[in-house]
Amino acid sequence: MINAPNHEVSSKLKCSICRADIKNRHNVYQSSLKFGIICGLCKHRFSNEDIEMIINMFFAFGEYFGARDKSEFSIKDVILEFAVDINEGKANFHSQNVRMWHKVLTYGITPREFLEELSLYVEQD
Ligand SMILES: [Zn+2]
Repeated sequence: MINAPNHEVSSKLKCSICRADIKNRHNVYQSSLKFGIICGLCKHRFSNEDIEMIINMFFAFGEYFGARDKSEFSIKDVILEFAVDINEGKANFHSQNVRMWHKVLTYGITPREFLEELSLYVEQD
């Protein structure tokens, strides 16, 4: 059989950030971007500014919020990777910054959580 379009799946709305099914269409944030529809939970956990940035990021690099196991996240690894690539001239600051945020978000960590962890990490040294 040829791949028939699956109407069940294609008619479902998914959150542009975490890919959760959106059941309650009244509780949806409509981004200024064309395909930016996000669930109530993401609307709650991200600021409007962050939402635009995050949707752009996942659109450009793929994956989604929480795609990876949060318990495997290491702030030290992320910082080291970021610093090494900048030092070796592999990437400019802006693009590396975007990639770092993308990685952090795929682990299901919000910008607020990341900045908190970052300040704790800096204080330790
Ligand atoms: Zn969501």
